[in-house]
Amino acid sequence: MLRELPSIEELLQAAESHGLLGDYPRERVADALRTAVERSRDELLGGAPAEPAEELVAGDFLLREAANALELESRPRLRRVLNASGVVIHTNLGRSKLAPSAFARVEQAALNYGNLEYDLAAGARGSRHDHVEALLRGLTGAAGAMVVNNNAAAVLLMLAALAEGREVVVSRGQLVEIGGSFRIPDIMRLSGARLVEVGTTNKTHFSDYERALTDDTALLLRVHTSNFKVVGFAEEVPVERLVELGRSHQVLVADDLGSGALLDLPASWKEPSVASSLEAGVDVVSFSGDKLLGGPQAGILLGTAEVIERLKRHPFARAVRVDKMTLAALEGTLLLYQDPARARREIPTLRYLERGPQETRRLAKRLAELVEESVASAGIDSSVCVRESVGKAGGGSLPLLEIPSHAVALRSGVEASQLEAALRRAPLPLIGRVAQDELLLDVLALDEEELEEVANTLVWALSQGRAEEAAGD
Ligand SMILES: *Cc1c(COP(=O)(O)O)cnc(C)c1O
Repeated sequence: MLRELPSIEELLQAAESHGLLGDYPRERVADALRTAVERSRDELLGGAPAEPAEELVAGDFLLREAANALELESRPRLRRVLNASGVVIHTNLGRSKLAPSAFARVEQAALNYGNLEYDLAAGARGSRHDHVEALLRGLTGAAGAMVVNNNAAAVLLMLAALAEGREVVVSRGQLVEIGGSFRIPDIMRLSGARLVEVGTTNKTHFSDYERALTDDTALLLRVHTSNFKVVGFAEEVPVERLVELGRSHQVLVADDLGSGALLDLPASWKEPSVASSLEAGVDVVSFSGDKLLGGPQAGILLGTAEVIERLKRHPFARAVRVDKMTLAALEGTLLLYQDPARARREIPTLRYLERGPQETRRLAKRLAELVEESVASAGIDSSVCVRESVGKAGGGSLPLLEIPSHAVALRSGVEASQLEAALRRAPLPLIGRVAQDELLLDVLALDEEELEEVANTLVWALSQGRAEEAAGD
């Protein structure tokens, strides 16, 4: 049988007549054919081939194998998924989706030349910072504004530019790890600033900060403990008091807010807003562009003109600068904030977070109908119902907040955990969760237009599961 294997040259000629060479360079086709032939040879030599020997050496089979491999290699690895997890700012799924109008700005910036660093009125070099800074100042009342790659970079820049070689006072209750190895003590070391810890894990008092001040203190830093909460016998010093202390000792106060809400969120969420920090008088505040703001990945810095100027002049600023597509996405997002009602309607993150249980029930009912229709027409046995569910903000925002939502719960012949895994491998992957042997598809972070795609993916996965079971039998 080994002698029956065609030569690569023969296969290449056949590939040419099949039009395989048209889509890929000849070299890649030859490589893929070589791999296919080697696999057939190994199968034959292994003694227990998965396919019949005649098939393994057939030119058509080898061409098909090579074509499949080439198609797989050419498929983008970064793909769209459907988020039925109930977690809105899902860090692993890319945090925030852009508003369509913000995306339109990105498309224009990406496909064209633009005035990124060109002052059209003066006909001279301009600053890439200018475009969104005026918007940020207008929206927040801050005197200075700057945008960098992400909030981790913003914190690093703040510490390096304002406190290198000097002391930064932080409460022990705020020495957090955000995830992905972003830990306040590590970032501090990297910036060249010296960390001075005060207070205890659960309680830090004004007097703790007061006693820590020395001639070498450059900064009082508050860090929003985004992804966890100390509850019970706990106490923090409000940022207003830190400002009071800083002012009386000529020490700057910085606030790493993490999430950065520009609009008023329900008071029960207890999420400190950007406005409240600025009103308290902090010298500089930093937050992410893709958490509660609902824009692109970015780190936003707001503060006094003098402090922001120091940040801009620091050499790190160049290393952490944003590109034109981010600036375009951020500008498009911030323009929506000029009309808060429009921001709430059009920015997906805000829309999902504020959906409310009536709307999620309606969407879940609609999804249940679509699922029932498509499983029935595929002849699959299953039971589908709508259940109350608890959604999450995610992205390290509002860790304890339980957002009332609804999910479609499904039981079928396929085990829920197996079905959940099949959904992840679908052509359009669907991320759901499993609870008590049921597959749960939470609608909190799904758009109405996506529900049909969710139902289709579900049918794909259920058919896949049935096929596997049949093969197992
Ligand atoms: C999320 C977060 C960061 C990191 O922000 P990225 O935008 O992910 O870089 C830093 N500090 C706090 C308090 C955060 O919540």
